[in-house]
Amino acid sequence: MKVFKFGGASVRDAESVRNMASIVRSHADTPLVVVISAMGKTTNALEKLLATTMAEEDTTEVLKEIREYHTNIIQNLDLTGDEALARDIDESFEALQNQLSKFSSSLGYDFIYDQTVSQGEILSTKIVAAYLNQQGISTHWLDARKVIKTDLTHRAARVDWGASQSIIRSHVNQLIEDGIVLSQGFIGSNAKFDTTTLGREGSDFSAAIFATSVGAESVTIWKDVPGILNADPKQFSDTTKYDQLPYKEAAEMTYYGASVIHPKTIKPLAQKDIPLYVKSFENPEAPGTLINDCLIPNLKPAIIRKDRQTVISFKISDFSFINENHIQAIFEHINRQNLVINLMQNSAISFTICIDDNPDKREKLRLALLDDFLIYYNEGLELITVKNYDQDTIDELMKERRIIIEQRSRNNFQMVCRPI
Ligand code: ASP
Repeated sequence: MKVFKFGGASVRDAESVRNMASIVRSHADTPLVVVISAMGKTTNALEKLLATTMAEEDTTEVLKEIREYHTNIIQNLDLTGDEALARDIDESFEALQNQLSKFSSSLGYDFIYDQTVSQGEILSTKIVAAYLNQQGISTHWLDARKVIKTDLTHRAARVDWGASQSIIRSHVNQLIEDGIVLSQGFIGSNAKFDTTTLGREGSDFSAAIFATSVGAESVTIWKDVPGILNADPKQFSDTTKYDQLPYKEAAEMTYYGASVIHPKTIKPLAQKDIPLYVKSFENPEAPGTLINDCLIPNLKPAIIRKDRQTVISFKISDFSFINENHIQAIFEHINRQNLVINLMQNSAISFTICIDDNPDKREKLRLALLDDFLIYYNEGLELITVKNYDQDTIDELMKERRIIIEQRSRNNFQMVCRPI
């Protein structure tokens, strides 16, 4: 059995859905579990719908846009006559409106977020399943909310692996007998049967959950890039594709901010030794990148750039030196604010951290520690990480930047800087 994951870009319009179907058809000889995200930028549109509701503004226009976008795809796929699909789409929009009307209740934003934004995946998979069946590719729609069980957290739910794996296994094994099993990425449900989501871009992770549950022979993530590149082509020219990467290398790249795969995807696959392919849906015959248990000497340096970074320095003002107690106090407040440190550094009299820009939390942190330290900060910076660096790459990157912090270990080079 293989698991395929198609993201929003690969089902963004009727032509993309046709292309996706042709990829699936060409693998019809293998039992397939297909995981799909919301179409195009639907998740962003649903977030906008929530923001409009919260602002107590009229949602008619935003809702209409979301509906028209999907209806257009249905028309262009010649699915207008499919009554069951029409009912499903109506149901989805009713569920959406029903949840939005509860906004003022005590249920909380994150709860409502999951109940509404998840409809993007429901709409998308209903349409794609109907299209595949219309094309004679026998497809079973599986509700991920029935099989992926999570804790009670909303918007970043943690997976209950034991429960999910056995439920997925029994459902998929039964359905796969006579066709493709098609399910949603990103969504699951908790013990109260409320919908939960796994975090933005979480569909890759869903594919890994399905794959480990059924012991898949591989996972393929179909994307609009030829594979994993050594830098984001939108930020750097002259990028190269990796033909193969070790799990560890790929996982670390996601840790430092490479956005090509969701950070939680690699670990479960590596634990079960399931190879992960990242391939282009525009050029499906091309080999893409294979991530597996391998050793590759002299990997080309990977450049990962994160913008919107803040550097905060905590300085001692009384001529004593930074010690463990100071650092402990700083960490306590960092934890309290739920902040993630992207880089840190200490000197005799100061401790410095680099975090994602977040003026609100930065201010809370500053106020909490104001009595003990002199606190300085800089916002709007960039953090560049070079894995497996060489001096030429670093020299080139340093040319156009003013460096604020620089660190290097045997394999990694990092700098926080301001573009000149
Ligand atoms: N649709 C969700 C998002 O846009 C999940 C995903 O695409 O992975 O974040």
